[in-house]
Amino acid sequence: MSANLSVAAYIGATILFILSLGGLSNPETSRRGNLYGIVGMTLAVLATVFGPRVTLAGIPWIVGAMVVGGSIGLYAAKKVQMTQMPELVALMHSLVGLAACLVGFASYIDTSIVFSGAEKAIHELEIYVGIYIGAVTFSGSIIAFGKLSGKIGGKPMLLPARHWLNLAGALIVIYCAYAFVQAETMSAGMALLLVMTLIGLLFGIHMVMAIGGADMPVVVSMLNSYSGWAAAATGFMLSNDLLIVVGALVGSSGAILSYIMCRAMNRNFISVIAGGFGTGGGTVVKQADGEPAGEVTAISAPETAELLREARNVIIVPGYGMAVAQAQHTVYEITQLLREKGVNVRFGIHPVAGRMPGHMNVLLAEAKVPYDIVMEMDELNEDFPATDVSIVIGANDIVNPAAEDDPASPIAGMPVLQVWKAKTSIVMKRSMASGYAGVDNPLFYKENNRMLFGDAKKMLDEVLAALKA
Ligand code: NDP
Repeated sequence: MSANLSVAAYIGATILFILSLGGLSNPETSRRGNLYGIVGMTLAVLATVFGPRVTLAGIPWIVGAMVVGGSIGLYAAKKVQMTQMPELVALMHSLVGLAACLVGFASYIDTSIVFSGAEKAIHELEIYVGIYIGAVTFSGSIIAFGKLSGKIGGKPMLLPARHWLNLAGALIVIYCAYAFVQAETMSAGMALLLVMTLIGLLFGIHMVMAIGGADMPVVVSMLNSYSGWAAAATGFMLSNDLLIVVGALVGSSGAILSYIMCRAMNRNFISVIAGGFGTGGGTVVKQADGEPAGEVTAISAPETAELLREARNVIIVPGYGMAVAQAQHTVYEITQLLREKGVNVRFGIHPVAGRMPGHMNVLLAEAKVPYDIVMEMDELNEDFPATDVSIVIGANDIVNPAAEDDPASPIAGMPVLQVWKAKTSIVMKRSMASGYAGVDNPLFYKENNRMLFGDAKKMLDEVLAALKA
């Protein structure tokens, strides 16, 4: 492929990626957005593999690597459960970080292109920054994977003098950068790179370990952003314009998402990153122990069906448990049935419901719930007092009144869906266990609240059967 054709293909792919991001910002256009992304990526890969910078002898290596990588990716994507998606995304972010590190080291030891003067300094700085971002992204994403999969506890690990540790790490990294650019020999430069990589890895671990359970959504979107910047840095090292543009697109959209998440959770971005925010200045986060802290009133599936049948206005609030139970299809069947009976049914979506941004929207779209009855928290919160029944399906933290009422709560200040303001609220979950943030939920003990205990899918099947009867 000629250089001109390759540039044209890169420009085409860039436009397709921008259209893809635009499409993905709205559920109705997201399928088209995905398609643009697939076509753009195919074009980008073909233009790179058959581009002017790859020799004929290199093609079998690239194709071989693609077959291995593609097969692992295909296997993982097919095998992964919908509920494990956030962990998979975190793992993928870690691979982008690892790739940036490896490309950085490879660029440094590659002597086929000799740089001199300012060009040499710029090239070395690209390598240095690329490896650093890659190392932070790699280790941070691995810890995020551990936290999302429950292999590592959600409680923040707050080391004494942690801000000083971070500052000391940052100063060493800056000093090593200075020394690296001045380094006379490759071995001296390599030693400095290794020191910096180690600090980057430790910083990534420390940063994510210090973040409390409820703040994890911000970390997930932030690591998404980092993986973009790591890709952009790789693009600089490889002088690949498309990688720079695409990395910057992912990096900036991840940064915007982090900002949106912070705003939705009423958190300050810097405080989240500094870690430990939301732990109420050292309040011990109460872990789920399955022991109720008050009286709860249980309800059966037929009684729930009865309440729904008599209701005029119903709001359904799905959470992580709906994803676990894969109850979205039954939820929609119940919705259809109630709507046919003239009940006004709407869905209330909290920005951090589930375990990844847009998690609930994806599930409801999969079940073909019409978009016009799926509302954001802000659009719906003031409607609860005029609602007969609010049903919480496998959600917990996002409907916790302690966020509003208890300033000492780890989730204090986070806006929540005010389901308790409905005439009756029904919470569907299997036990009295707490949610991801590990906080007890006073909603369960409210007078107008009923608990429908059991697996969400099983209980909803029973409600559906009772409604049909
Ligand atoms: P929560 O984790 O607060 O609560 C989910 C509830 O679902 C649990 O209390 C559990 O109770 C119940 N549950 C689990 N399985 C089932 C099942 N099969 N049937 C019925 N119920 C079930 O989820 P929310 O969606 O309310 O809140 C999300 C939390 O995750 C927030 O704290 C958020 O900060 C965090 N988070 C969000 C991310 C995002 O990007 N959206 C990323 C990382 C973290 P029980 O065991 O008793 O059934």
